[in-house]
Amino acid sequence: MADAPKVGARTTEPIIATFDVIVVGAGFAGLYALHRFRGMGLSVKVFEAGDGIGGTWFWNRYPGARCDVESMEYSYSFSEELQQEWNWPDRYGKQADILRYINHAADRFDLRRDVQLKTRVTSAVYDAEANRWTVNTDRGDRVVAQFCIMASGNLSTPRIPDLKGLEDFRGERYHSGLWPKDMVDFRGKRVGIIGTGSTAIQIIPLVAKQAQHLHVFQRTANYSLPARNGPLSEEEVRVHKAEYAKRRADAYLTPFGISGYPPPEKAAVEAMPEERERHYAARWAKGGTISFLFAYKDLLVNQVSNDTAAEFVRQRIREIVRNPEVADLLAPKDHPIGTKRICLDTGYYETFNRDNVTLVDVRRAPIEEITQTGLRTANAEYELDAIIFATGFDAMTGAILEIDIRTSVGLTMQEKWKTGPRTYLGLMVAGFPNMFIITGPGSPSVKSQMILSIEQHTDWIADCIGTLRGRGLARVEATVQAEDAWVEHVKQVADRTLYPRAKSWYSGSNIPGKPSVFMPYVGGVDRYKIKCDEVAANGYEGLEMTG
Ligand code: FAD
Ligand code: NAP
Repeated sequence: MADAPKVGARTTEPIIATFDVIVVGAGFAGLYALHRFRGMGLSVKVFEAGDGIGGTWFWNRYPGARCDVESMEYSYSFSEELQQEWNWPDRYGKQADILRYINHAADRFDLRRDVQLKTRVTSAVYDAEANRWTVNTDRGDRVVAQFCIMASGNLSTPRIPDLKGLEDFRGERYHSGLWPKDMVDFRGKRVGIIGTGSTAIQIIPLVAKQAQHLHVFQRTANYSLPARNGPLSEEEVRVHKAEYAKRRADAYLTPFGISGYPPPEKAAVEAMPEERERHYAARWAKGGTISFLFAYKDLLVNQVSNDTAAEFVRQRIREIVRNPEVADLLAPKDHPIGTKRICLDTGYYETFNRDNVTLVDVRRAPIEEITQTGLRTANAEYELDAIIFATGFDAMTGAILEIDIRTSVGLTMQEKWKTGPRTYLGLMVAGFPNMFIITGPGSPSVKSQMILSIEQHTDWIADCIGTLRGRGLARVEATVQAEDAWVEHVKQVADRTLYPRAKSWYSGSNIPGKPSVFMPYVGGVDRYKIKCDEVAANGYEGLEMTG
C-alpha cells in the first residue's frame, strides 16, 4: 500500500477528521452498525468502496440473483415499524427488491449522511499509546477513531481464476459479483459460464433462455433443491407480521437462526426407507434448504444418514435430466449433502434438457486457456461471445486481508492470519484492540441467516463498547488464551460433523495457496448466542479492558 504508514514511522500527514467509530462497508452490517452506534451518541463514519450502499445486493446484480432464506426472515428485525411497513412481494426476494429495501432502510433511519461512497479503506493502523485507529483510504482520507468495525463482508471479494490468456479475450467478460448496472443482453450470443455454485445455478436457467447457445463449464457438481419461489399471499404476510416479534426471538433458539422450522428429533438411520423417502419428498415438494436439512437430526454428522438424503437428490436429478450421461455428471458424488452450501434453484436441472445448453466436464478436461475467441480445455476448443465467471469469492478473510491492518507494536493481520484466521468468537482478534469484526470467521456467520447474525454481533459489540466507556476505560482486547481456546473449540465442533469432508470456500480451498482451515462456527446460532451472552454477563471474560 503506497501511503500506508509503516510501523513506528508515524506520518506527518494531517488527520482530516476524528470519530468515535469507523465502519468499513455499507452492506446490511455496516448500515446497522451505523444506526446502532449513532443511537449510543457516538460519532460514526462509514466508508464504502461501491458507488451505492447494499453490499452483496449492490454488487451481485446478475440475472436470477435472489436470497435463499425467505425474505420475511432475511430482513432487519431491529425496528418493529420497519418490519411491519415493508412488504416483500416474493417468498425469496430478488436482488432488486432487496436493494430497494436496503435503500429504504437507509432513508428511513437517515443513514446516508455518514456514509462515504466510492472510497476503499486501504490501511488501518492502531496506535497503542493513544488507543486510536488511523484509517487511510484510496481517496486520500486519513481519519482517526477509537474503534474500527470491519463490516467488510464474507462474500465481497470476487475472484476470477488466474487462467492463461484471460486478458486476451475479445468478447464480453463478467463476474457475477461485479455485475454491470445496465441489463446485459445475451440474445443471439454464444455464452460460456464457468462454475456451478449457488450463483451459477441461479444464472444458468435465465441465460439459457436468452443465449443462442450456453456452455456450462462444470468442475464439481453441487446439490440443488427447488426453491418453489412465488408471490407471498396477503394472508401469509399478515400471519407472519402478527407473529413477527415472537418469530424473531424464536430464531435465536435455532441452529441456523431461522424460525418456522422445528429442529428434528429423529435420526435418519432410525427411520424405515419408505418413511425417509416420504419425508424427503415432502420437503422437496415444499422447497427450500432448511426444511430439507431438518428432515433428520443426524444428516450433518452421520455419513450413512447423509447418504440417504444425497441419494434422494441424485435420484431426482436422474428423473429430471433426460440424457443419462448429463444427469450422472450433474449428480454430486464427492461430498456429503449440506457440507457445502446447498443451492436453491428454479428450473436448474430442467435447463439441461434444452437443445441450446451443453454441460462440459472440466474436471476430466480442465480449462487450459482463455483464447481471443473463447476458451480451450484439455480436449476441445469453444468459440464464445461472452464468458460469465461465477467462480466465487475469496471468502471470509479476503476483504479483511486486502486492508493493511497493523499495530504500532509491529503486529500485522496478514502475519497473524498467515496460517488461517484466528478470532475470539469471530468478533475480535488478539493483538488488535478496539477492532471488531461483524460476522467474522469463527462465528456462525455464513452458516446462519446472516442479517440475524449481523444484528446479534452489532448489538454485542455496542454493549461491549458501552461497558468499556461506562468503566471509564479506553481499550478492549481479546486475550491470546481466550482466542486460542475458541479457535480450538471451533475446530473440534467442525470435526464432529461431516463439514470437513467437503472442499469449499468454507475452508478456503477455492483459492490457490489459501490456508486450509474450516472457518465458520457450526455449533449453531443458538449455542453461539448463549456463549456470547455468557461472556458479557461474566464481565466480558476473555477480553481485557484497560487504558
Ligand atoms: P456485504 O454485503 O458483503 O457488504 C460489505 C461491503 O463492504 C461491500 O459493499 C464492500 O464493497 C465493502 N467493502 C469491503 N472492503 C472494503 C474496503 N476495504 N473499503 C470500503 N468498503 C469495503 N446470506 C443469507 O443469510 N441469505 C441469503 O439468502 C444470502 N444470499 C446471498 C446471495 C449472494 C449472491 C451472495 C454473494 C451472498 C448471499 N448471502 C446470503 C450472504 C450475504 O453476503 C449476507 O447475507 C449479507 O448481505 C452480508 O452483509 P454484510 O454487510 O456483512 O457484507
Ligand atoms: P462458489 O460456491 O465458490 O462456486 C464457484 C464455482 O466456480 C464452483 O463451481 C467452482 O468449482 C467454480 N470454479 C472456480 N474456479 C474454477 C476453475 N478454475 N475452473 C472451473 N471451475 C471453477 O461461488 P458462488 O456460486 O458465487 O457462491 C458463493 C456463496 O455465495 C454461496 O455458497 C452462497 O453462500 C452465496 N450465494 C447465495 C445465493 C443464494 O441462493 N441466495 C446465490 C449466490 C451465492 P469447484 O467447486 O470445483 O471449485
